[in-house]
Amino acid sequence: MEYIIYVECRQTGSGAYTSVDGKVVQSSKTGNHWVEKVVLQPGKKIPVVDVSNSGKHRCYLLSIDESGTEIKDYNEDIECSVCSSRALN
Ligand SMILES: [Zn+2]
Repeated sequence: MEYIIYVECRQTGSGAYTSVDGKVVQSSKTGNHWVEKVVLQPGKKIPVVDVSNSGKHRCYLLSIDESGTEIKDYNEDIECSVCSSRALN
């Protein structure tokens, strides 16, 4: 069983950034906001980069359970290009 999840992504001028490695299905005129579609199976986890306006890192692993309910796991280490580049600075 596969479930289609839509993730609201954004990149504002104030530093907020949310992105997932999915297919862009909708985008605002400015390009600051868009929606990405990902296909998930129960047990599969995908990293979502989520940075707030204040630059706080809230990246998480997105998964679903058998009923298709979204689960956000903020506790696991995830591979995040934003975090990686920040670590270098
Ligand atoms: Zn991160």
